[in-house]
Amino acid sequence: MERGSKLVAVNDFSGDDSVVLKVSNLQKTYGRKTRALDGIDLEVKRGTVFGLLGPNGAGKTTLVRIVSTQLLPSGGSATIAGYDVVRQPKAVRRRIAIVPQEGRPLLLQTPYEHIVTYLVSRGLDYKEARARAESTLDSLKLYQYKNTICGNLSGGLRQRVLIAMAISSEAEFLVLDEPTIGLDPVARVDVWNLVRRYVAGGKTILLTTHYMDEAEELSDSLAIINRGRVVAKGTPSEIRRMLNATHTVIIKTSQSDLSEFERFGRALRAGTGVRVLTDQQRASELATLCMRRNMEVSIRPSSLEDVFISEVGEVEEGEVEPHTAN
Ligand code: ATP
Repeated sequence: MERGSKLVAVNDFSGDDSVVLKVSNLQKTYGRKTRALDGIDLEVKRGTVFGLLGPNGAGKTTLVRIVSTQLLPSGGSATIAGYDVVRQPKAVRRRIAIVPQEGRPLLLQTPYEHIVTYLVSRGLDYKEARARAESTLDSLKLYQYKNTICGNLSGGLRQRVLIAMAISSEAEFLVLDEPTIGLDPVARVDVWNLVRRYVAGGKTILLTTHYMDEAEELSDSLAIINRGRVVAKGTPSEIRRMLNATHTVIIKTSQSDLSEFERFGRALRAGTGVRVLTDQQRASELATLCMRRNMEVSIRPSSLEDVFISEVGEVEEGEVEPHTAN
């Protein structure tokens, strides 16, 4: 299908004004074989943060690129505020802003120049763009770097410049593709605060992340995708309830036979050990047994990360980021 078709840009939004992004049976196949999206259905409500989680290659960026009109789907549909991303890309682009994965500001431009140029390219007049750049830099604590070329800013500040550009648009739908990757814990929390403030103003954010704590902390609802399919979706607490377990026992062991652990709950291989999803009573029985055998063991409440591992299967080291100190 071609962009810029002759179809009139009609908002075919059929009713539910609270849904900003609606994705129905979305599919994308690269070449003949790589099925990156295999029938995704999602709805994102206005004024919320929707988290998209998944291991490397799950299809997150493909989904983000389709909903932000950078890539055509192979099937299905996606609408933003009722506008179809394939048939009405201009109407969609006016309503969205995106911070792409591993985006980089131009090293010889200042944050101020970036924001002004971006806003003018979105159709604001120069005077308004300058005023909005000033206020955005001020509210994001970037004002002191206003005239510093980005080449002289730290990686965390450069990332905040990209987020500042997107936020300055005041777009009703913001897409952040792994916005905190590589940031230190303080810079991450700064970004989290920006996200919260943006949605508090009634705007909507789609956020992809590898960080479980980030997804849990920020998302009003989320989806875990794997191999192009949704394997879990709901609020963080609804997703945690999928486990039917309250406690997780983490045991460091290279033991390959999991049957002994399975007596206590659902045993999953994860990283350098085993996780057993169970209830409090059996968790303490298992931990006692492990300690008697001098095995390294800990117990904690079951988390989103456990759902991720249970739904996605064994993950490679570094494929999903566990909780980080912050
Ligand atoms: P990551 O977390 O590593 O960024 P992701 O969830 O964003 O991964 P995608 O980048 O959407 O995943 O990739 C989904 C699948 O599609 C992968 O198998 C990937 O190799 C493949 N893929 C992505 N882009 C292309 C492309 N341009 N051409 C061919 N295959 C692609």
